[in-house]
Amino acid sequence: MPEMPEQSATAGRRFDTVLIANRGEIAARIERACRELGLKTVAICSEADRDAPYGSTADSFLCIGPSSAARSYLNQDAILLAARLTGAGAIHPGYGFLSENAAFADAVEKAGLIFIGPSASSIATMGDKISAKRAMMAAGVPCVPGPDTSLPDDPTSVERIALEIGYPVIIKAAGGGGGRGMRVVPKSDQLHEAIALTREEARKAFGSPSLYMEKFLQHPRHIEMQVVCDDHGNAVWLGHRDCSMQRRHQKVVEEAPAPGIAADIIQPVGEACVQACLQIGYRGVGTFEFLYEDGAFYFIEMNTRLQVEHPVTEVTSGLDIVQAQIEAAQGHVLNLTQGDVTCKGHSFECRINAEDPDTFLPSAGVITHLVLPQGPGIRVDTHIHTGYTVSPYYDSLIAKLIVHAPTRAEAMARMCDALAGTEIEGIATNIPFLRSLFEDHAFARGETDIHYLEHWLKLRR
Ligand code: ADP
Repeated sequence: MPEMPEQSATAGRRFDTVLIANRGEIAARIERACRELGLKTVAICSEADRDAPYGSTADSFLCIGPSSAARSYLNQDAILLAARLTGAGAIHPGYGFLSENAAFADAVEKAGLIFIGPSASSIATMGDKISAKRAMMAAGVPCVPGPDTSLPDDPTSVERIALEIGYPVIIKAAGGGGGRGMRVVPKSDQLHEAIALTREEARKAFGSPSLYMEKFLQHPRHIEMQVVCDDHGNAVWLGHRDCSMQRRHQKVVEEAPAPGIAADIIQPVGEACVQACLQIGYRGVGTFEFLYEDGAFYFIEMNTRLQVEHPVTEVTSGLDIVQAQIEAAQGHVLNLTQGDVTCKGHSFECRINAEDPDTFLPSAGVITHLVLPQGPGIRVDTHIHTGYTVSPYYDSLIAKLIVHAPTRAEAMARMCDALAGTEIEGIATNIPFLRSLFEDHAFARGETDIHYLEHWLKLRR
């Protein structure tokens, strides 16, 4: 069958029922957005999630497989069958699981359904970090120094590449994600071993041995731009987020806007992201991730899906990003221009994880007591309730605590208060750790880099 031109792939296509191919807080969040748009919802679950509260509020609720994600939330055939049985016209993949799986997006569209996300070819281009880097370089987006090609096998050639970039370098898997498949090489004597180990890891974890090399930036911040695009050549960016508070390359706290970066520095980068979206015919929502060091931005990757931290941009921009994403999939024309985007105040998000606050080991079990904070400028995105069983099978994220206030200092104070007002018993959570982080002076001053949290944790031991 000839390929449909990208620009008209979804134009004029409508649906009235959305199957939510995910679980947890994001399933609840997507369901709410669908309801507000007047759409019917189909929730799915694994055996471990049979009691999920968003199941009882959805129009249909189907168990699609056993607890293991591979046999349920990652089972493409089971999800497509559930869509067929329930008459769903579209599938929202949420984040994680199949959200950045180009083959799944393709299978959904081939089944005559709408994938709520970009085209399979956009996902494939951006899912391979090397082709993403190449596309971004071509669009004039600044990238981390290093070639936009896969590392050759020949030892002399890789040594030459490393010398050209200059140590320290970082070896990264082209198909990597979730903070895995990366290795820093401080000096030349560790180069070959690092490449061999990362290649093996990449082959096992991501099914592709393809690696690339770039400069390891020593004290960058992680800054990202949220974009939203329609299928008619319109795109805007909704401001920026700072996600530098990371543990093991995983985000713990996010904020919007990124503090202390002048508008005239960040503006051209946001505009370059918009141009890149137009150039690749991107549809829906997406995030351009950058490292920011010494006043310069370096692209690292694009996420072609909704992100965990989207609420900090929602509360500052006033736009419902999930609804915008669904409307883009419906073929609607974006109903705002860049001039309409104004970000107000400051927002923080804390990821509340079911894990030990000292060892970070996951904690499963029944929530015996739950009090969630309330008040002006406080939002909680969650699916948990008293009596809910936190399963050991999935990610430990159980809630997101989001605050919004006129200034960063006020937002920090509001977060301290909101964390103090959160009571979760029966399982361990990272709340004590988050509370002490929000009392830290350097964090309060802002502009801490991606290594700060790890150093801070070492000092506390
Ligand atoms: P993933 O897809 O696994 O999230 P990313 O490429 O987005 O991987 O990188 C995740 C994190 O790893 C970044 O936020 C940053 O902390 C660190 N990182 C990635 N590339 C570099 C680099 N070139 N220099 C320094 N740190 C890096």
